Amino acid sequence: MRGKLFLPAGLTLVIGGLLASAGHGQRPSACEACEKLAGYVMPSEISDEIRKMVGKYKGGGGPENVAIQKARGVIETQLYPAFAGGAACPEIDSEKWAIDYSHKRRQAALHKGIDIPQPRGTPIRAIAEGVVVGRFMNQGNKKGIEVMLRHTPQQTGLPFWTYSQYTHLAEMSPLPIGARVEIGAEIGKTSNTGKMGRRIRRDALHFAILYSAHPEWSNDGAVVTPKDGYFMDPNAFYRLQPPHDSQSLSRLPEGQKAIAVPYMKTDGSLEPASTKRIWPYVCN
Ligand SMILES: [Zn+2]
Repeated sequence: MRGKLFLPAGLTLVIGGLLASAGHGQRPSACEACEKLAGYVMPSEISDEIRKMVGKYKGGGGPENVAIQKARGVIETQLYPAFAGGAACPEIDSEKWAIDYSHKRRQAALHKGIDIPQPRGTPIRAIAEGVVVGRFMNQGNKKGIEVMLRHTPQQTGLPFWTYSQYTHLAEMSPLPIGARVEIGAEIGKTSNTGKMGRRIRRDALHFAILYSAHPEWSNDGAVVTPKDGYFMDPNAFYRLQPPHDSQSLSRLPEGQKAIAVPYMKTDGSLEPASTKRIWPYVCN
């Protein structure tokens, strides 16, 4: 008989509700500083699908998350950067957008960003004007130290809200939640933080882009979640014209796969001067 409780369904719901509301009242917000920012909504207003898209959630993972991620933009597009005037910019290495990571994770997984190796300590630059909406130490997690920015349509010139993610930073950025950053502002330094088992990670920036047609977003203390958000191939962020969604981009003719990527020069000027979006490292 142990463990068997016979309660009418209605009573069970009442007890469940009381527990839920008690928990809610006591628990401090995961990101109090976020609550003052434009578009912020509580984590409970973001669907489980979006939580699973950005990472592990409610024990989910593997094939279910991968199916969501593919449907929401994590598919290969064959886009690649072509820096203006043949500038020498730090390049993406073998760890390209949306490649299969199942062999690295011992379960179905995708690479939800691009990796750009650079010497340790190299400054990482804000890819557009924006506001800091996420700061995560990610202890015991592969991502390592992470900063996330939110960019309005006005700040990027794109017709949606964009979120840029920078991980494996050397240390937490001094920029607090809510800090407004200019395009090209230093948001951290390159390193290799993030748990890797016995292997040693090379020094590299993992850079990712999320976007949404809706301005709402949340931060649950572990991840930033744009309402009804999608992943974007970071190369596509630099396209001046639509499409920006991976499904359409994958079907572009071969001649349109090279993306003219704008950047900041070592003297701090932008190329082209009028750009609202730049590569996350300075170029020579
Ligand atoms: Zn990566």
